[in-house]
Amino acid sequence: MSEKFQAVIIGGGPGGYVCAIRLAQLGIKTACIESRGTLGGTCLNVGCIPSKSLLNLSENYFKAKHFSNLGIEIDKINLNLKKMMKNKDEAVATLTKGIEFLFKKNKVTYYKGTGSFKSYNQISIVDEKNKKIVIETDKTIISTGSEPVSLPGIKFDEKVIVSSTGALSLNNVPKKMVVVGGGYIGLEMGSVWSRLGAEVHVIEFLDHIIPGMDKEISKEFIQILKKQGINFHLETKVDSIKKKKNIATVSTTGKNAKKINFDCDVVLISVGRKPNTNNLNLEAIGVLLDNKKRIKVNNNFQTNVDGVYAIGDVIKGPMLAHKAEEEGIAIAELIAGQSGHVNYDIIPGVIYTFPEVASVGKTEEQLKDANTKYKIGKFPFMANSRAKAINEPQGFVKILADEKTDKVLGAHIIGSNAGEMIAEIGIAMEFGASSEDIARTCHAHPTFSEAIKEAALSVDKRPIHS
Ligand SMILES: Cc1cc2nc3c(=O)[nH]c(=O)nc-3n(C[C@H](O)[C@H](O)[C@H](O)COP(=O)(O)OP(=O)(O)OC[C@H]3O[C@@H](n4cnc5c(N)ncnc54)[C@H](O)[C@@H]3O)c2cc1C
Repeated sequence: MSEKFQAVIIGGGPGGYVCAIRLAQLGIKTACIESRGTLGGTCLNVGCIPSKSLLNLSENYFKAKHFSNLGIEIDKINLNLKKMMKNKDEAVATLTKGIEFLFKKNKVTYYKGTGSFKSYNQISIVDEKNKKIVIETDKTIISTGSEPVSLPGIKFDEKVIVSSTGALSLNNVPKKMVVVGGGYIGLEMGSVWSRLGAEVHVIEFLDHIIPGMDKEISKEFIQILKKQGINFHLETKVDSIKKKKNIATVSTTGKNAKKINFDCDVVLISVGRKPNTNNLNLEAIGVLLDNKKRIKVNNNFQTNVDGVYAIGDVIKGPMLAHKAEEEGIAIAELIAGQSGHVNYDIIPGVIYTFPEVASVGKTEEQLKDANTKYKIGKFPFMANSRAKAINEPQGFVKILADEKTDKVLGAHIIGSNAGEMIAEIGIAMEFGASSEDIARTCHAHPTFSEAIKEAALSVDKRPIHS
């Protein structure tokens, strides 16, 4: 007799594991299947967490090298990359084990293996020793996430031609690194290796970095990264990547048909990710995909097959861990008869470079496209006392508010701690706040967040400090 569950989740990433815990909290007998051997998905194992660990460590290294400008003199600063990687691996191991603990605490059954559909309510699980079992379920939630895509005909070897996964575990600092794609993963990993000593070249097909970001922020961001020593080649297309022993040659065509070849010891291809739907045997039950090969769902995460749902990177929407988590909670609550809901208008996005870049809500370009009349309030960190006091005066806060009602429609921040500060605007927007509401809220002094208050005051042209 196969074991029977009320809900089974395939994939133990941020979408799947959060969904499993919430279902169990709601009294639903739940199992989660994960093929990787550890829980936490891309995010904890080869995404958000290891990248943030390396970003933090490399930033500290870089800052320490420039301490003498600030009156802190250290004789010699050495890089021990092996130790740095060990620190990153330990952070990952602690966090992934933490989720196993949470599963036990909440009585979620954890199956290590690859799950696929035998029928709409029977899931086969094949473990690493090829042992197969079948479990039964009333509801199945697919949260199998995504994986990196390469360029046509080019395979990752994860040593010379690497995806983000390889870029998180290089054994040596490359002398020269080419990053194909100026999105957030490329810029975060490019920053890490540039700070550790690599000559980094970012090749981007478009005329700007981070497509979809507010253009004014994007312009400021590229200038700051250039000053940090990262080289950008915009409007440039990669024609081929050829590998000879430990060297790759990236051949490109840039503006005015100019051909440039880059010889480098590592090329990171960060041009996007594709949904993971291959090993699920979806054909057996006829689950439909959309034109981008993502699982097609309605507003309640329901596929075209009764009792089968999907969330996270494997469906439409931004490929972000917190978006997957919100969907995991929403579907768990919907299954339990509650009214789970995700507000897709207020999903923050953060780039963890130095300085950080964070945004929530609409960009100026989106408001223009929608013919929405808006007001802008901007405040530079150069005029923020905390930023000046600690020598981190780069960037600004930009708030966009409805011209008539003053309701906050979006906010974009480039500066230290931007990723933490954006939460304030997210909450304000969830409560339908106006820029006046933010402007009238007392912010502690001296903090970076005072720049948010000042930007809100600037919407009404009455900033105090600029
Ligand atoms: C380098 C990098 C940095 C990132 N940084 C950030 C960041 O700072 N902030 C942020 O919000 N997002 C970040 N992301 C994106 C984030 O990792 C993803 O959006 C998030 O992990 C998606 O969650 P998910 O649960 O949908 O899928 P995943 O995390 O991909 O989890 C899916 C899991 O399903 C498993 N699986 C697949 N098929 C099967 C099967 N048939 N049976 C059993 N298990 C299966 C996979 O092994 C995987 O563990 C980053 C990604 C990368 C690559």
